Amino acid sequence: MSQASLEAEKNTVPEPIINEDHCKGCGRCIAACPRKVLRFKSTLNLRSVRPAEYIGTGCIGCNFCFYNCPEPFAIEVYGAAKKGS
Ligand code: SF4
Ligand code: SF4
Repeated sequence: MSQASLEAEKNTVPEPIINEDHCKGCGRCIAACPRKVLRFKSTLNLRSVRPAEYIGTGCIGCNFCFYNCPEPFAIEVYGAAKKGS
């Protein structure tokens, strides 16, 4: 990785991205988040459950939400290092 891309990675603000129609509303990510920056959305998704949503600030990029989610495409964290990378 070049110095420029290392700098870009360092300057990225981590943010969980939730694909709400893949979310089954189990709440594991909400329980796992050490910063308590995830919550249930007030509206239902296509699966008729309340999906998780990010409150918009405070994520530290720990990836606990990602690793605790049972659905492969429901949540990922941008700007955070993945295990093994
Ligand atoms: S990456 Fe960590 S701090 Fe950010 S939303 Fe997920 S569990 Fe919370
Ligand atoms: S752990 Fe995954 S499926 Fe469960 S509420 Fe969070 S994003 Fe949705």
